[in-house]
Amino acid sequence: MIQDKHGTLYWLIAVGSATSWHLRGVRVLTELADERTYLGVPPVSWTTGPGSHWRVPLGPGHYLTDAHRLREALAEADRAEYGLMPEGRQLCYRCQLPTDEPIPVDVEARTNGVGQIIYACPTHAPLYPTGQHLRTLTSAPATEHEGRR
Ligand SMILES: [Zn+2]
Repeated sequence: MIQDKHGTLYWLIAVGSATSWHLRGVRVLTELADERTYLGVPPVSWTTGPGSHWRVPLGPGHYLTDAHRLREALAEADRAEYGLMPEGRQLCYRCQLPTDEPIPVDVEARTNGVGQIIYACPTHAPLYPTGQHLRTLTSAPATEHEGRR
């Protein structure tokens, strides 16, 4: 597993082992045959940051990440961080474009006490002015559901 200087993590997995993954903030690179990605691979001895380094060191028999287990771990993290995936596409509060990776950034208070969740695309989620709300949002979808009964 490589971490670059921006903090982005890269897992190396077997070709074709990550089909139809749908996780927010996760990209399957070179998923398409005509897609190109350049990844700077640090020397094996670089195991600490802040520059690009091997977060999980490379070694004999320790090269590719198990895609199945990785997907389970990432899906778990997605649920813990962002809560349930809403049905269908959501509009980003900022660019107003539908996004397949809706990240909840805030709950807009309504007069009836039921919050309307505000979503952002992965690009604009970090730019939301009150990003510290993120972690308190995981129970929001359930609350919204109960309010509709
Ligand atoms: Zn956006």
